[in-house]
Amino acid sequence: MNLKLIDIHAHVNFNAFRDDGDAVVSRALADGIGMILVGSQYDTSLRAVEYAERYAGGVWSAVGLHPIHVGGEIYVDAKEISALGVPGFSSRPEEFDYAKYKKLATHPKTVAIGECGLDYFRSGGTEAEKEKQFEVLRLHIRLARDVKKPLIIHCRNAYDDLHKILIEEGAGEVGGTIHFFAGTWADAQKFLDIGFGISFTGVITFARDYDESIIKAPLDKIMVETDAPYVAPAPYRGKRNEPAYVIEVAKKIAELRGISYEEVASATTSNATRIFHLT
Ligand SMILES: [Zn+2]
Repeated sequence: MNLKLIDIHAHVNFNAFRDDGDAVVSRALADGIGMILVGSQYDTSLRAVEYAERYAGGVWSAVGLHPIHVGGEIYVDAKEISALGVPGFSSRPEEFDYAKYKKLATHPKTVAIGECGLDYFRSGGTEAEKEKQFEVLRLHIRLARDVKKPLIIHCRNAYDDLHKILIEEGAGEVGGTIHFFAGTWADAQKFLDIGFGISFTGVITFARDYDESIIKAPLDKIMVETDAPYVAPAPYRGKRNEPAYVIEVAKKIAELRGISYEEVASATTSNATRIFHLT
């Protein structure tokens, strides 16, 4: 399959796409846009694998437990859609079951472990919550090394602790991406130095905080993503995001770097193919 772009982080496997997910995937594929569908809990990870199985090519899965779901506390977001398909998302605390996730991780369509990581923005307010996040992140890194697949890392307000744990656990051996990269250029360099790439979402089309990293990062280390259904890029702001919109992220990177859209599309697609061993 000849793909012109790869959205390396989308959640068509979430309930926001419960009624039309396959139409959304097909629309992107028809435009030459492939995707990695990313789980955040066991059920959404399983659904990512099931989606990937339905397509001959261009759709892959990533499996993991998001840090907001590892703690005992409940995090609520009224804008998300719950497991029952009604408005109002609430985190569902889950114990990370290594053996169950390993089964999904070894599936041939699964190309990465994640999203996993640290989130001090919506959780991690206490030492106990942080410790729990550390423990579950370490298990994901061990799983990634165990099955020899790269990591998709989620990180909010925790780049220093993340960096330390990635080094301690030898995560550079498998690499991967720091998804929705939102740190400084100094942060970015530390992750590039240990063998990770960084990826950008539609937020770069309307916020200027990311420009320095976008411009300075080596072209062979960056990738594009939507994080659909969240953060739709301009001109779709406020709408449900979808993988087809990843083109807007690539266009913005081209504009900021002063190079052609085609050059960004071809570089980010070959980076994703290389980093996630996509076939
Ligand atoms: Zn995500």
